Amino acid sequence: MTDDHAYTPETLVVHAGVGRYPHRPVVPPIYQVSTFAFENADQGAALFAGREQGYIYSRMGNPTVAALESCIATLEGGYAALACGSGMAAIHTALAALLKSGDHIICGDTVYGPTCTLVEGFLPRWGIEATMVDPSDLEAVEKAFRPNTRVVYVETPGNPTLVIADLEAISRLAHQRGAIVVVDNTFMSPILQQPFKWGADVVVHSLTKALNGHADVVGGAIVAKDEADYRSFRKVLNHLGGVLPPLESFLVHRGIKTLALRMKQQSESALKVAEFLEEHPAIDWVRFPWLKSHPQHELARKQMSGGGPVISFELKGGLEAGRTMMNSVKLCSLAVSLGGVESLIQHPAGMTHATMGPEARCRARITDGLVRVSIGIENVDDIIADLDQALETASSRSTHRAQVGAG
Ligand SMILES: *Cc1c(COP(=O)(O)O)cnc(C)c1O
Repeated sequence: MTDDHAYTPETLVVHAGVGRYPHRPVVPPIYQVSTFAFENADQGAALFAGREQGYIYSRMGNPTVAALESCIATLEGGYAALACGSGMAAIHTALAALLKSGDHIICGDTVYGPTCTLVEGFLPRWGIEATMVDPSDLEAVEKAFRPNTRVVYVETPGNPTLVIADLEAISRLAHQRGAIVVVDNTFMSPILQQPFKWGADVVVHSLTKALNGHADVVGGAIVAKDEADYRSFRKVLNHLGGVLPPLESFLVHRGIKTLALRMKQQSESALKVAEFLEEHPAIDWVRFPWLKSHPQHELARKQMSGGGPVISFELKGGLEAGRTMMNSVKLCSLAVSLGGVESLIQHPAGMTHATMGPEARCRARITDGLVRVSIGIENVDDIIADLDQALETASSRSTHRAQVGAG
């Protein structure tokens, strides 16, 4: 198949970026090679000067990696993508390409913990000012702009609060002020949300999560909307060096073939689990974009085509009950990461968002008792039964403790 944007996503995940190779393999072979020989000195010089297309050295490009990049760019509807060594490498590379000393960035306050640390802890060291803002509060976003604001960075739904940023409205605000919008689309994947459609300028991904989907690779990607952006990202990536190796690229490209099936199933199952949790007497509150109780449910329906795999909730017994629940699951694994085939449960305040510190967590409305689950592709009844027995253990222990305390 030639890369054709007219195909539907279910078809594109199988065929995009596959390309043609000697002996016509139906998937891209793994070019496990660091360097490529030139025909002669003139050809080598022509490749370096960009007068001729071809491969030079794998930090600068590799056919297996290029196949994956082409696939991701097609799925997002972008011009081109760059595969990076991790989601954080992708975010760092994109921000390093877009910002310079003296610039200002507006960043959603409910983003992946290390992203928050990068923006608030590292960028100021390089002379870049940052303002963290609730991305669901458009007035606050508007007020945060300064004359030197160059980038607005959002993650939607936000991790782990599932707060939704209105991509169309934020893109409009940013463009009126000469800033560009970078969206972390990890939670949704291009199957459930395509930020370029709503005006975003750059998309970043952690490939570690849904795109690879099988918990066996760490990787990331930047997707550029036009050639100029792509060239500037490529130049920075070549020099910062955070590239994805060929074997990992092959594995992610293979994982993507089932992305549409997985996202559909995981969104459906997650909705059933969220409904189960919402009804459960031991649960205080549940957040899931596809629940009517989500404060931005309408917006979610507008810019997303499914709720995604992640649910956050809090038990009535708070952190203590949540801890007992996490220690009592049998089918779900107590592990960070999300979007993969296996169901995972974790505690953001103590795990993924621990380095942010209590103040930043409080500002981002990440309570100490918040529990996050990522729903996999197991039978949903098995997942619900597992969570049910763990909730039972958690609530019987807290009842027991209350009785002992009273007695
Ligand atoms: C995991 C994650 C990242 C970071 O990705 P790594 O591959 O772990 O570096 C960034 N953003 C979101 C939303 C994530 O879930």
